[in-house]
Amino acid sequence: MTQPIPYLNLKAQIQPLREELDAAIRRVVDQCSFCLGPDTLQFEKDFARFCGVEHAVGFNSGTSALHVAMLLLDLKPGDEVITTPYTFASTSWAISYAGARPVYVDIEEATFNLDPRKIESAITPRTRAVVPVHLYGQPADMDPILEICRNHGLAVVEDAAQAHGARYKGKGVGTMGDSSIFSFYPGKNLGAFGEGGALVTRRADWDKRARSLREHGSTVRYHHDEIGYNYRMEGIQGAVLGVKLRYLSGWIQARQRIARRYHELLASTPLQLPAQAAYAESAWNLYVVRHPRRDELKAFLEANQIGCALHYPLPLHLQKCYAFLGHKPGDFPVSEKAGRECLSLPIFPELTDSEVERVAETIRQFFAR
Ligand SMILES: *Cc1c(COP(=O)(O)O)cnc(C)c1O
Repeated sequence: MTQPIPYLNLKAQIQPLREELDAAIRRVVDQCSFCLGPDTLQFEKDFARFCGVEHAVGFNSGTSALHVAMLLLDLKPGDEVITTPYTFASTSWAISYAGARPVYVDIEEATFNLDPRKIESAITPRTRAVVPVHLYGQPADMDPILEICRNHGLAVVEDAAQAHGARYKGKGVGTMGDSSIFSFYPGKNLGAFGEGGALVTRRADWDKRARSLREHGSTVRYHHDEIGYNYRMEGIQGAVLGVKLRYLSGWIQARQRIARRYHELLASTPLQLPAQAAYAESAWNLYVVRHPRRDELKAFLEANQIGCALHYPLPLHLQKCYAFLGHKPGDFPVSEKAGRECLSLPIFPELTDSEVERVAETIRQFFAR
């Protein structure tokens, strides 16, 4: 009986670090530094250095970091923020939480990312910002996006929730926008023991205001300068993330090696493989292939004990929660087709060569039937 190949195996990542992680958690418990605390503050410094940005602010999720990134733009009701419909819903939530309207622009067929050629026609006098998502770990084509935003006076917020360590023309994601957010949800490239997120920015004034907004709108205890939130990172998460951050570059290299191997092994199959743009060094949070018979292939892999997943089957413009935006099928055809065809294969640093080979071999069997 062959062993199942899981879609994601967090136990395999944690097990070799177990002593270090336990010691970090014990330290937090000994100090009772449960909310923020010294380990979280140290992690913020370390993560800022990892990103190559001056400031990193720890949050209790990527969604709350993104919410605060939107609040920093001082959006007014009716303001518009351009983004992709082909992403996790959270990208749009933040825009909605801040009282603005998400305006969708379709993606590029090859990269699944916001198509810069379609942005300009979506800009109106109410447009305030663009939120590119570095989906699956591959950077969006930032230079044309940044140029359009400069020309129109728009802010840029990078949603780098899936892309820790990815590079665009040699520049780290998170360094190009006015601010950027990361998620430390357990399945992301750097995952907490629960929820977590960060906002990074070069702007000292935004760093200060983000710290206030995440902590009840106050810089002095029980004095509230504006309506704030309880979005603090927990001490245990900061401590765990501080340990794991030291291994992140190695993990990303392992993901890149696995992606290269999939490329070699799957090149001769009918699958459309994830294209890596010349400007991009992907961090490969996900390895997403495409095929019109996606549902059958998914069932076949699962019947052969290989985990896989869908990211994302239904683009946001067709979700019930955004029906009020008035979209219909066909409005963003590239996203809709990607939603029908995408299939995420197992990719995590501890996935072995022989497991990658077995996934590829099973896919070849599917097409040979
Ligand atoms: C995971 C994710 C988020 C939200 O992060 P959470 O930590 O889960 O709140 C935002 N955007 C994208 C693209 C994501 O994948």
